Amino acid sequence: MSKNLSKYVDKSMDKQTGVEHAFKRTKIVATVGPACDTYEKLLELTRAGVNVFRLNFSHGNHEDKLKIIEHIRNINKTEPYNIAILGDLQGPKLRVGEIENNALHVVAGDILTFTNEKLVGNKDRIYVSYPNLHEDVKIGNKIMIDDGKLEVKVIDIAKNGDVKVEVTLGGVISSKKGINLPDTKISLPALTEKDLIDLDFIIEQKLDWVALSFVRSVKDIVILRSKIDERKSKSKIIAKIEMPEALTNIRDIIVESDGIMVARGDLGVEVPVEQVPLIQKQLIRKCIHRAKPVIVATQMMESMIDRTKPNRSEITDVANAVLEGADAVMLSGETATGQHPVLVVQTMRKIIVEVEATEYRYNREEDLKPQTHSPSFLSDAICYNACKIAKDSNADALIGMTQSGYTGFMLSSYRPKAPLYIFSKERTLINQLSLSWGVRAFYYAEEESLDNILEDQIEILKERGFVKSGDVIISTGSTPIHLHLPTNMLKITKLD
Ligand code: PGA
Ligand code: MN
Repeated sequence: MSKNLSKYVDKSMDKQTGVEHAFKRTKIVATVGPACDTYEKLLELTRAGVNVFRLNFSHGNHEDKLKIIEHIRNINKTEPYNIAILGDLQGPKLRVGEIENNALHVVAGDILTFTNEKLVGNKDRIYVSYPNLHEDVKIGNKIMIDDGKLEVKVIDIAKNGDVKVEVTLGGVISSKKGINLPDTKISLPALTEKDLIDLDFIIEQKLDWVALSFVRSVKDIVILRSKIDERKSKSKIIAKIEMPEALTNIRDIIVESDGIMVARGDLGVEVPVEQVPLIQKQLIRKCIHRAKPVIVATQMMESMIDRTKPNRSEITDVANAVLEGADAVMLSGETATGQHPVLVVQTMRKIIVEVEATEYRYNREEDLKPQTHSPSFLSDAICYNACKIAKDSNADALIGMTQSGYTGFMLSSYRPKAPLYIFSKERTLINQLSLSWGVRAFYYAEEESLDNILEDQIEILKERGFVKSGDVIISTGSTPIHLHLPTNMLKITKLD
């Protein structure tokens, strides 16, 4: 090995843990919370198969998040991983205020009053964190409380801003529970004051991904993008799809975002819950077609919050997301506050590995060709055919290089059978690509000659235990090297 390569292969534990870790194609996103926020626990979760840690800005403070960020960055420094961090903004989430004795029992037929006056709620009046409620709702609109566990219907709107509702599905209202208005167009801004403060923190801390909750239209993404660009931040954007309005705009939202989350929790309250499975399927498909990573989220292993084994239906849910071709599956309460955060990741990983080992594995190559009208058609065609040749030659590795991320996301979107290795000199991208199906990314910054680069990359993979002599390797790249053009060449190597 030449001397200048040693800096790319210094991760000594790679051969034991890195190869194992790369073996699974579908990625795992785990939400960090009190159940897993120490260095040791985060490392255990990483070793068990986590690729992306999610910080939920609906909970906790910046001080605690800083510690978590530091732990994850330390793991990346000392262990052979490139774990991404996803900052998840709360967005325009509506909630009730404090409730007297933290419990208000209501039954069908009860009449309640929602107000924008800050007070401790009781049978008479309940504060809702939405000053325009009375202007936006109409008589007959449905309002859901606590993930739809309770339902009420608007029956009267008073001049002073009070909204009278009749309970249609009773239960217990406790403090700070979320509210969803599936029938109402909400006039709140995409980024609340709290979101702007959190976004500042996310940009300052250089988090790899930022997710926006309750996206309604492509404008929401454009606004977030301009704030990110203003600050010259490299954070990439995930649009959380959990509102019916987003579904009517979905094409533009996918195009403008860098990735999508199928946020089934709120989505299942905002639209009839029986529609969620097909929406999930369609969103995954649309994202793969646009080479945008897609995460399936919420209640995937919910029962493992307090149990050691998942339900059969949960196992099937994770397996189906893998079969549908999702880039990543997500854990929320299971890792953030659950009793078995490591076990749940291990279990999820086992399901993924089992499904991926079968021939049912999702394969886009066969049913989607590069689009001739796309401005990136020529480089898309190289990526597409690289995957095809990799398959025909039963290749042991497929290599790509990227500076913008595009080739990485594109090669991944064809869901190639050969293990996919992406090289980049952009360190942020190396982490960001952790979310993408099948991608294992490496830092590499030499730019002398294409011959050297292709050789170096194979040498690095060899040194780190990913390829061996006799292997067939498909490399893609771009020439002339100094022009940094989109991917425009393809090479087959048989390793001596
Ligand atoms: P949340 O988003 O956990 O931030 O609510 C995910 C979802 O709604 O499914
Ligand atoms: Mn949500």
